Amino acid sequence: MRKHAAYVAGEWVDAGIGCNAIIDPASGKAVSGVPAMASRHVDAAVQAARRALARSRWASDARLRADVMLRWAERIERNVDALARQLTLENGKLLSEAQFEIGNQVNVIRFNAGLARALSGHSHSLGPKVMGVVAREPMGVVAVISPWNWPISLLVRDLAPALAAGNAVLSKPASQTAGVSVELLRLLVECDGLPEGVVGMLTGAGGSVGQALVEHPGIDMIAFTGDGSTGKGIARDAAPTVKKVALELGGKSPFVVCADADMDKAVSTLARFIFLTTCGQICTAPSRLLVESSVEKAVCGRLAEAIDGIKVGPGLDPASQMGAITTRGQYEKILGFIELGKKEAVLMAGGEPVAGVDHDQCNFIAPAIFTDVDPQSPLVQEEIFGPVLTVQSFASDEEAVQLANDTPFGLAAGVFTRNLDRAWFLSRGIKAGTVWVNNYNRFYAETEVGGYKESGVGRMAGFDGLHEFTQTKHINFDST
Ligand code: NAP
Repeated sequence: MRKHAAYVAGEWVDAGIGCNAIIDPASGKAVSGVPAMASRHVDAAVQAARRALARSRWASDARLRADVMLRWAERIERNVDALARQLTLENGKLLSEAQFEIGNQVNVIRFNAGLARALSGHSHSLGPKVMGVVAREPMGVVAVISPWNWPISLLVRDLAPALAAGNAVLSKPASQTAGVSVELLRLLVECDGLPEGVVGMLTGAGGSVGQALVEHPGIDMIAFTGDGSTGKGIARDAAPTVKKVALELGGKSPFVVCADADMDKAVSTLARFIFLTTCGQICTAPSRLLVESSVEKAVCGRLAEAIDGIKVGPGLDPASQMGAITTRGQYEKILGFIELGKKEAVLMAGGEPVAGVDHDQCNFIAPAIFTDVDPQSPLVQEEIFGPVLTVQSFASDEEAVQLANDTPFGLAAGVFTRNLDRAWFLSRGIKAGTVWVNNYNRFYAETEVGGYKESGVGRMAGFDGLHEFTQTKHINFDST
């Protein structure tokens, strides 16, 4: 087991603190250990971050921030393979996916490093001898709390713009993937020019370390990505200290297939993102297929073929097409939904236990597809966060929009059609922060993401993602 230290108040800390073990979900063995920190460490980190902002040039020198971030990106680029291997061991995802996840952060950090120097406000001539200057200033000390499914992407998605905007950032990674998160931060901390205390990473349980960050009066903003119920609690507990809260929460995304769609592309894209990628443990997973009635049978047949014989196994095995479910709790939750589906709906394909593995130690689950689902069933209404797909059919585009919007979520959607008018009608009608037309799950540093309805508040990535970590100040010059 590889032991990692946490980074607090400019120091690597591990002595005298209990250790949280991280279990490889493909073998049941402990692979990493991180310090089990407590609320007193949060206080020390907050004091150091405030001191760093007061004494250094970090908040006022965009070129310094850009230079440090570019150095960080370069160091990540040189360490992709080692970080990816560790990510696979802690998360269970395929090594190829882990390599993509780590490597892509180089691009995200470089984009945000450029944005640091482009951050600007505006000015107004408000009358003879009166000028209003609206400046964008950092929030101050930001806490970034992130989940385990795409732990490095989702950490960097918030950390990079928060730093680019001139904030100090304290991060609380998901406990399951804290080892690889700490190693990513090490590459930043060791960069020349970063003032001591501007970043920190606190490992430990969400209910203690995370909660202490949420309640601390010295934190100005929480950027949270995770489960809806955790997010609602964070919004409530941040209220007494009137912090800004950005929430990126769960989803139950519809994938609409019209009769005129490119069926090969639609089916392979759907199978890839609900089953193969992170075993469907992605917030934008297209977990609800909405298919035009006239092609329902044909599409279901192709989907059944697509999942037949999928090899589920350890992420480090090049033969595996799907890895392991990341945590034991998530594994049991998914199996519970599959059992519910067998009672309430028709199991159209899959849903059998993976053969030849020790189910007491390893979290392997094969895909499952359910038809004849009640639209109000938990199978359709709740986020399962695993390789489980429900199928519903529609007779008109109006019905497709109604079904698509009939859950509490609004994170993402897919629309497959060759008809531009239909693509326009469906993508404007669906209430979701992202709609992909004839593709799915494409993320770019340049384009914003976020949720409608219970999928979240605020936007990350792109220009809005940078602005999310700033506040405006109107300075009024009056010479009358
Ligand atoms: P989670 O249980 O809500 O945990 C997320 C983070 O919050 C972890 O770091 C966790 O720490 C911490 N936490 C737990 N309780 C806390 C508290 N009381 N105060 C402060 N922090 C606390 O979510 P998850 O199971 O890791 O992630 C899966 C969920 O994330 C899914 O719902 C998925 O849809 C959502 N997600 C959303 C997006 C998006 O962009 N919208 C992206 C990815 C995932 P511990 O690990 O120590 O518990």
